[in-house]
Amino acid sequence: MPIYEYRCGQCEKQFDVTQSVHVRPEDTVCPHCNAQSATRLMSACTTKIKGTHKTGFAEMKAYSMLDERMDKFSKLPPIMGKRIDPDAGPPPDPSPGGITGN
Ligand SMILES: [Zn+2]
Repeated sequence: MPIYEYRCGQCEKQFDVTQSVHVRPEDTVCPHCNAQSATRLMSACTTKIKGTHKTGFAEMKAYSMLDERMDKFSKLPPIMGKRIDPDAGPPPDPSPGGITGN
């Protein structure tokens, strides 16, 4: 599940959303003013995470970031929670045992 960065066309605030690749930018609701006029920005952060796919440590970092973002989402209004719920299972828990073998 990629993390997308958006800028709201209504209140001009920036926010990021973890959502399915199938979600269109025009379906994204601004968490600040609930407007549906967000523009997707290219997040350098997302690209970096996607490109780093060799060590468990990097993945662990990415997962904890994702977790942090998911945590943010749980505090958003229900409409946002509904949006990510269907295909956004909880991120796989990086088990410490698998990572220490470095
Ligand atoms: Zn807004």
